[in-house]
Amino acid sequence: MRDVTVAKTAGFCFGVDRAIKKLDDVLNKYPLPIYTLGPIIHNNQVIEKYEKAGIKTAEDINQITQGSTVVIRSHGIGKDEYDRLKEKNVAIIDATCPYVRKVQNIVNTYKTDGYKIIIIGDEHHPEVIGVNGWCCDDAIIINDKKNIPIIEKYDKICVVAQTTIIESLFEDIANEIKNRCADAKIFNTICAATEERQKEAAEIASKSDMMIVVGGYDSSNTKKLAEICRQYCNKVTHIETAEEIDLNILKECNKVGITAGASSPAWIIKEVAEKSMEEQNNILQQYEETFKRFKPGDIVEGEIISVNSDSVVMNIGGKSDGIVKKDEFMQDLYEDLMRTAAIGDRCKVMVISTNDGAGNLVLSKLKVDEIEAKEKLQEKFDGEEILTGTISKVVKGGVMVDLGSLSAFMPASYYDIKFVKDLNALVGKSITGRIVEYNPAQNRIIFSHKVLLVEEIEKRKAEQRAIKEAAVAGLELGQIVQAKVKNFTDYCVFVDLNGVDGFIHMSDLTWKSIKKPSDALSAGQVVQAKITELDKENFKIKLSIKDLTQNPWEVFKKKYNEGDKATVKITSLANYGAFAEIIPDLEGLIHISQFAHTKIDKPESMLKVGDEIEVLITKIDDASKKISLSIKDLTPAPKKKIEKNKKVYSDDDKVTIGDLFGKIKID
Ligand code: SF4
Repeated sequence: MRDVTVAKTAGFCFGVDRAIKKLDDVLNKYPLPIYTLGPIIHNNQVIEKYEKAGIKTAEDINQITQGSTVVIRSHGIGKDEYDRLKEKNVAIIDATCPYVRKVQNIVNTYKTDGYKIIIIGDEHHPEVIGVNGWCCDDAIIINDKKNIPIIEKYDKICVVAQTTIIESLFEDIANEIKNRCADAKIFNTICAATEERQKEAAEIASKSDMMIVVGGYDSSNTKKLAEICRQYCNKVTHIETAEEIDLNILKECNKVGITAGASSPAWIIKEVAEKSMEEQNNILQQYEETFKRFKPGDIVEGEIISVNSDSVVMNIGGKSDGIVKKDEFMQDLYEDLMRTAAIGDRCKVMVISTNDGAGNLVLSKLKVDEIEAKEKLQEKFDGEEILTGTISKVVKGGVMVDLGSLSAFMPASYYDIKFVKDLNALVGKSITGRIVEYNPAQNRIIFSHKVLLVEEIEKRKAEQRAIKEAAVAGLELGQIVQAKVKNFTDYCVFVDLNGVDGFIHMSDLTWKSIKKPSDALSAGQVVQAKITELDKENFKIKLSIKDLTQNPWEVFKKKYNEGDKATVKITSLANYGAFAEIIPDLEGLIHISQFAHTKIDKPESMLKVGDEIEVLITKIDDASKKISLSIKDLTPAPKKKIEKNKKVYSDDDKVTIGDLFGKIKID
């Protein structure tokens, strides 16, 4: 069975395809006479078909009659010709290939900037003639490295290529020019379609016994294809139609390759393929497979081939071009589509419909953007990434957050830990957060800023717990530690133990009687204390300062008994007496009646705080831990003096005790 391979790139390029479609469109919409300026493509069969439909080929503008319609072919024309056409009062349909238009624009711009234009290509090719017409017909046109003229006289050179020349030829000449001119602007304007077609042809030719190259004999790119194929295959035949296949050669070949120039219509390639082998059905299928088939929902990458203010036309590799309406291309309809999209740009689109009624595919870029945005968001949701968005508006129950290509809903309670009174005040604010709920099928994207705040709090708590754990790790029950006084309550002092808090009850501060904790300590003071209770799990640490000193009552009891003398220091005065420190942290009371043998009205009339005096310990009450002291008992009681009576009374005299003892004087 013969193995036939049809090149995927065989046949109309999109530039030719576009020109043919425009011509078909003109044929449907415009009355005759209709002209093409030069053959619409280099293919006699196609030209014959249109001639039969009434379309004439004008070789010169003078042949075109006023009031007619003129189609400019994909090769384009020069500026002068274009201006002459405009003066002729004809309808002009410009089917110049966008890639050729790009070359025209380059030479026009650089010519204006004072560059000498060099076109690498065939000086007789209509595309080259047209391009030259956009730089005042003043370009140097060369197609051989040997023919490079003396270019050293030009300071600035701009080099472009005929879109269909062989890449290696362009590189050879361009490199030579670059070496000889310091300011050489080199533009490789060879059409990618041509390059791909040539590469594939070489590849198929290298594996084939016979290579069939289909295309017009005048077609420059078809001739070049045949030339390339001959480098890889011994049997190469250039034909225009299937009838020209040499069956004698064909029957000797098991592997046959078929390629075709850019101006070969699909039906001719199909005929050639059918004739190339017996198994027609297989070949038909193979040929059909060279075109991509689409169905609604397919996502494909394509290239923008034209743009206007309402829509973009794309080549996505199918038989038909695809149309993307502005509202399916961009979100902001106030933006200018022609500034956003440019010919040659590539992007992914979704097929919405395979026929818009005129045979074109209906495409959407926004649908692909949305799918891609959702995929990215899914990744961010799965990865719990922190996102930044802008609060765009207030809606029922919350706000919308603009995340770029998608918007998320943030319930009011997901903004802050605290209640937010006025959501309108948040509009326009940039905000960080995380997607906490995501259901792309239902377009449900729930955003939360609060989740970050809660995490921050939890993080701080964990850090504090770690500090506390480290602090308590080294503590033991009964250990004496340094503690710094932090703050007071009515009955407690809180202290810092290197990162963890402890507390000392007022009763554990001192053996002395105090009314409040701040009577014993002050904030910031560093003291030593003993750990008396330790709960490491709950960081509960109770301490005592009092436990660090001996019980003064015990000390006192060992040293003193009732009736002993002691030297004491007056610590405070009260109406009823004075308190005196007997040993550190232990006081006794000198009641005012024990001050002296005479009556004392006020303690301060006899004593003052700080006085050191000697007292007698008169009573020690173990039960109440009270000590009574006396000054008076250390001094002898005064003697009473009786005055001598001047009068002696008889038994019969009535006298009183006063009469008998008179006045008693006490020393
Ligand atoms: S070969 Fe390329 S540049 Fe030439 S008409 Fe086709 S697409 Fe346009």
